[in-house]
Amino acid sequence: VGEAPASRRVLLKLSGETFGGGEVGLAADVVQRIAAEIAVAVRSGVQVAIVCGGGNFFRGAELSQRGLDRARADYMGMLGTVMNCLALQDFLEQAGVTTRVQTAITMGQVAEPYIPLRAIRHLEKGRVVIFGAGAGMPYFSTDTVCVQRSLETHCDEVLMGKNGVDAIYTADPKKDPDAQRLDHVTYTDALVRGLAVMDATALSMCRDNDVRMRVFGLEEPGNVTRALQGEKIGTSVTA
Ligand code: UDP
Repeated sequence: VGEAPASRRVLLKLSGETFGGGEVGLAADVVQRIAAEIAVAVRSGVQVAIVCGGGNFFRGAELSQRGLDRARADYMGMLGTVMNCLALQDFLEQAGVTTRVQTAITMGQVAEPYIPLRAIRHLEKGRVVIFGAGAGMPYFSTDTVCVQRSLETHCDEVLMGKNGVDAIYTADPKKDPDAQRLDHVTYTDALVRGLAVMDATALSMCRDNDVRMRVFGLEEPGNVTRALQGEKIGTSVTA
């Protein structure tokens, strides 16, 4: 579907934890700051697609432990991601960026349906495309979705923005004083060593399709712009 883009095109993953500032609901100040940083990169010519997580509202696996049917709980989780998409859309528009939200579950009043060719066209026109509602399928994660969307829309790189950590480490640096910061890892390494990058389904999809990925910390001011523009911050992950 479509040709490889001439200018840099990236897919940014923002987790629910980012949107909630570690709590339930919306940390508007955080989202506003990230939107402003995205706007700088867009103005410099980077094509930006974004996948929003939803863990700040509901995670299907957690809800199912409280007695809900897993699939229905997962749909609740997916609906939560859409609220994050709309919040980010609003702050991006306020920052002067044209945006489109595309959801994997149709909801015509608030978003376009996911149409890959149309998403690519938006990106070519300099619009930021925000993907919501995950894959529209229970038992998937937004990490897996971001790999799939990046492949289908021909992104050059997947950028995993993280909270509380600025790169991949050999162990949790908050718990283990011997944890080493890694500049580069392979997907196989990440899978075998159980490194905190993304879930195993998403990692193996990256490995099988030769995806380029960078894991970086969102908190340092300017880091979102840097990652979008291709600065080698954090940890690079390759096949
Ligand atoms: N989800 C799903 N299918 C998808 C994507 C997400 O069922 O394709 C549900 C799942 O219940 C998940 C929730 O939506 O727990 C929120 O997504 P995720 O946990 O990936 O968000 P994040 O961890 O990035 O905040």
